Amino acid sequence: KINQSPDYARIVHDSIQYVWRHGVSVDTTRAERGPIAVSASGVRVTDADGTVFLDALAGGSAAATLGHARVDVADAVHAQMTKLHWVSLRTFINEPSVELARRIAGLTEAGLQTSFFVSSGSEAVESATQLAKSYHRARGNPERTKFLYRKTGYHGTSLVGASASDNKEFRTWFAPLAPGFVELDACYPYRRPAGMTEDEYGVSVADAMEATIIAEGPETIAAILAESIPAALVLVPPASYMRRLREICDRYDILWIDDEVFIGFGRTGRWFGFEHYDVTPDIVTVSKGITGGYIPLGAAIATSRVMETIFGDGATTQAKVSGHTYAAHPTACAAGLAVLDAIEKEHLLESTASVGDWMIDEFRRRYDGHPHVGDIRGKGFLIGIELVQDLATKDRFASQLSVGRRIMARAMEQQFMLRATGDVVTLFPALVTTQQDGEAMVEATCRAIDEVI
Ligand code: PLP
Repeated sequence: KINQSPDYARIVHDSIQYVWRHGVSVDTTRAERGPIAVSASGVRVTDADGTVFLDALAGGSAAATLGHARVDVADAVHAQMTKLHWVSLRTFINEPSVELARRIAGLTEAGLQTSFFVSSGSEAVESATQLAKSYHRARGNPERTKFLYRKTGYHGTSLVGASASDNKEFRTWFAPLAPGFVELDACYPYRRPAGMTEDEYGVSVADAMEATIIAEGPETIAAILAESIPAALVLVPPASYMRRLREICDRYDILWIDDEVFIGFGRTGRWFGFEHYDVTPDIVTVSKGITGGYIPLGAAIATSRVMETIFGDGATTQAKVSGHTYAAHPTACAAGLAVLDAIEKEHLLESTASVGDWMIDEFRRRYDGHPHVGDIRGKGFLIGIELVQDLATKDRFASQLSVGRRIMARAMEQQFMLRATGDVVTLFPALVTTQQDGEAMVEATCRAIDEVI
């Protein structure tokens, strides 16, 4: 049914020739390029054949958090573009960026204060590592230059992002990566050793992190880069882990950079994932949901403690930070303000929590006792279903990639967008997903899974 448009072959040819498609292995002979999207509305995307896809991926990479084709955001962007589309932050202050940063600072009680605006998640992560180095330099510790990151983590594609990501292909292909990035174990509660509670396991993973810090030399480490709730495999950590992570960071003066690029601005039913735990990060990185994907924008947001350390009285700082042409882009910030307005006015955090948690419960109800569904987990609209060959041993399918790939492909044939990372089927729909859409997504997910395994 898909890709019958007469122009499809030509557009695919041109797309291979002229557009280097991201996120796809370097294989320019690939014939399978997916449908051509031509329009979208709400949680549905229409292709060149008029086929409509139900979108449980917020556009594919989680950015379209308000759904597609919002007139209010478009109006805000139009108004800003025709008033002041862009001026450099080097030369001028612009009001939308000041207002957006002020609003972000007020979203939580976490002490988040100052936004360093960039244009993507990778840049936000890179900027956060620079802020962390500035913090330690200001404290007289310029030798603190190492960063800790965790297995299964993803933090982007810049040299820093790739160096902090557990992506074997990238690590090999782009070697040598940045020096001083140290890998830690992930906190993966479903795969904890038998006989341990989740809380005991959380403490043990954090203890192993402390041992690595001591072995590396705490005086050499700047920060740990860690998502509060790692999105790729939906690894919701136990509270004990988050508490210990914070304690260890405090004990050794290591900053916690909480990468909220994927889940920030509402995906888990709170503004940020860390709010599900009684801990606060030192720097938070965001992108995607900050503008709902309408215009690229990202930020590294530093707490007042970090800012006060870096800038002191403001007059004498030697801090160096990189600057970007599009830093604090007024039009992108105007989109961000419209997105915050919509989330607040439409109570989208509340509906994300209730519809998302209903979906998780419904998956659990349907798959109770299923021989190949090992774990169903998530928060709000971040949902993971881990499939296993053997429920008792938790052994993965021998051909794990193909099971996930087949489920994704089957869903696409059935006009439904979901993701699988290895054996973990994931859904991350827009915050505007209604109960009715949520029910349709559960139905479509189960259909694709049930037909493959
Ligand atoms: N960090 C996390 C947690 C992400 O999920 C992503 C992208 O998916 C990034 C960083 C990189 O963001 P970008 O693709 O905008 O560079």
